[in-house]
Amino acid sequence: MRAIVIEDVNKASIQELPDPVPAPGEVVVSVEACGLCGTDEHIYKGEFLSSYPLIPGHEFAGVITELGAGVEGWHVGDRVAVDPNISCHRCYFCQTERSNHCLNWRGIGVNVAGALAEKVAVPAENLYAIGDLNFEEAALIEPLSCVVYGLRRLQPAVGDEALIFGAGPIGLLHVQLLAHAGMHQVVVVDRIAQRLERARTLGATEVVLADGSLEQRLRQIAPLGFQIVVDATGVPVVVERALQFVKPAGKLLVFGVCPPQERISLSPFEVYRKDLQILGSFALRYTFHYARDLLASGVVQARPLISHVVGLGEGLAALTQPERFEKLKVVVRPGAR
Ligand SMILES: [Zn+2]
Ligand SMILES: [Zn+2]
Repeated sequence: MRAIVIEDVNKASIQELPDPVPAPGEVVVSVEACGLCGTDEHIYKGEFLSSYPLIPGHEFAGVITELGAGVEGWHVGDRVAVDPNISCHRCYFCQTERSNHCLNWRGIGVNVAGALAEKVAVPAENLYAIGDLNFEEAALIEPLSCVVYGLRRLQPAVGDEALIFGAGPIGLLHVQLLAHAGMHQVVVVDRIAQRLERARTLGATEVVLADGSLEQRLRQIAPLGFQIVVDATGVPVVVERALQFVKPAGKLLVFGVCPPQERISLSPFEVYRKDLQILGSFALRYTFHYARDLLASGVVQARPLISHVVGLGEGLAALTQPERFEKLKVVVRPGAR
């Protein structure tokens, strides 16, 4: 099979490799669609917890082509999406319903061979049936599942107002879910006007270009601040500035992935005086079903988030030279030539 292989930091190529063989409890999935995300770029640049060589790709859907020993309830030909998080079920965190913090955590496409390949072997317990959902849209189940997890932690209440920094694919998923959650305002900030237009069509009530007048505009829109503020940029200075827009007794969700070594300054007095809650959100936990159902019902639209559908060759270019792609979500179809 053909696969994108990250051989070492900043070194990747397309290679011809033996097909994967399913271990007991595993199935082989023929990958129909695999999304690229910032995490893949971090892995390529050596900024994430991976060892090499590695086949990346953790946002994917496909068809089962082979069953390993002991797999029950699945059939060759089943259309599936795959939760890439493999947890051990034995450690303290798994046994206290916090499997995303598993002490023996492994991630398909992170430190286990991933789905930017024609085929991938995965644990059967990580499979989710996708019915007749389109494969390219089903590749968005994983990132949506992370957003669902974050918002279930955040618990927005009907009537709140929300401010979202970043109108990339993750920001646009937040926009759609918050618009459906009864926010009376969903305000989106980004540096790129085109992205803001898309945010508007997906439910944003106001969009604001991140320029010199940003602060003033946001004060006009919400003089007392926002009950809900979400960072979907992963840019430390944005997170730092976001805090000032949280209303007293409001909440900040740190969703974007900032580089691990970065620091921001914040005023502990302000956190105290304003009764603030600052929440993190790592990966996902038992939210795959919700994400699949949200896409299947059309409450969340994936199609407007997909800017490119490409084969492995262009997928490699998108991974290694992301600046060449003025992009939202790039979806790779490994079988396409
Ligand atoms: Zn991802
Ligand atoms: Zn565990």
